[in-house]
Amino acid sequence: MNADAVVIGAGFFGCHVALQLRRLGMDRVVLADREAGLLRRASYVNQARVHNGYHYPRSIGTAARSRRNFQRFCRDHAFAIAADFDKIYAIARHSRVSANQFATFCAEIGAPCRDSPMHLRRLFNPDLVEAAFLTQEVAFNAAALAADLLPRLRDGGIDLRLHTETGVEAADETGVTLRLGADRLRAAWAFNCTYAALDTVGVGLRCPLKKELAEIALIAPPPALEGIGVTVMDGPFFSTMPFPARACHSLTHVRYTPHAAWRDAADMPSQTASQALAMMRDGARYLPALSRARLLGSLYDIKVVLLRAEADDARPILFEPSEASPRMISILGGKIDNIYDVLDVLQHHDWS
Ligand SMILES: Cc1cc2nc3c(=O)[nH]c(=O)nc-3n(C[C@H](O)[C@H](O)[C@H](O)COP(=O)(O)OP(=O)(O)OC[C@H]3O[C@@H](n4cnc5c(N)ncnc54)[C@H](O)[C@@H]3O)c2cc1C
Repeated sequence: MNADAVVIGAGFFGCHVALQLRRLGMDRVVLADREAGLLRRASYVNQARVHNGYHYPRSIGTAARSRRNFQRFCRDHAFAIAADFDKIYAIARHSRVSANQFATFCAEIGAPCRDSPMHLRRLFNPDLVEAAFLTQEVAFNAAALAADLLPRLRDGGIDLRLHTETGVEAADETGVTLRLGADRLRAAWAFNCTYAALDTVGVGLRCPLKKELAEIALIAPPPALEGIGVTVMDGPFFSTMPFPARACHSLTHVRYTPHAAWRDAADMPSQTASQALAMMRDGARYLPALSRARLLGSLYDIKVVLLRAEADDARPILFEPSEASPRMISILGGKIDNIYDVLDVLQHHDWS
């Protein structure tokens, strides 16, 4: 064996998986990514929302788990948390949940939720928005997370290989053979933490995935929306909130953020034209001040969800030893705070 473990993918999940394996006693841990730095893909290109349950009225399990992980994530990553904004969940008149149902759901999961003060309520078009609740949600700074992780990986003795395209060549009961750039390596364990590439690195997955090409618009908010994050629930609506890594706001829309959806690795569509203007135009019907935002550009990446979670929008983790070998494990986090669920599973696994 050349390594105890190879982790493919140095996003937020791959970095933490590598650190956890070292804590669990593996000496030679290699972490490889095709990018030039840490957290360059989905861990950076996302809405930067630390979920606190509100998003999941259709999956009480995910909501409750988000509540638990929220506290821990904010405590462990205080250096990367932006909390200096009012977070409003507004309920559209044609929402799948009513204002009453949303308030009841928040009470059930113990998530702070109260009527917005009048100056915030006035931001919304009353013809289209039934209620606006002041909630507790924060944003994370992915650049700060990456800057924190780099020295931790180095101090942890992890063999970090960037610019390194990695694939699995073979896996059996005793270990996994991988191609890392020009090197070939045999490892006792291998971890596929490649998110959007989960089904393309040479590991068959049993669990079907759904992929979406997603656009996140970046905007400079008008003065009326500075210090404010808004999510309009529950249906084909939108969200705008601070994006700390770029000191601006993100804007996403349930209808316009996904450009295309597909299932097989081979079906990836080519990128289409930006839909940021459509996001702004539709969002401004509900939140008129949005029409005065300035578009700064867009980020694109592939979003991955478990097909079985589509109906209720749940976000369980995937931890799947491959059929070919129990030593080749694919991991999908789903959302950033799910890292604790992954670390728990790693801790209780038998690594002998
Ligand atoms: C549009 C969008 C919005 C989202 N919004 C939120 C949100 O607001 N809050 C939240 O909690 N979560 C959100 N998520 C989900 C969250 O971003 C992901 O759950 C999380 O970032 C996944 O981290 P990861 O480390 O698994 O993946 P990534 O950060 O994508 O890391 C995977 C890494 O694998 C590398 N890689 C892939 N293939 C190979 C290969 N063959 N060889 C070498 N390296 C390889 C890639 O370069 C990449 O660096 C969002 C996701 C998207 C896409």
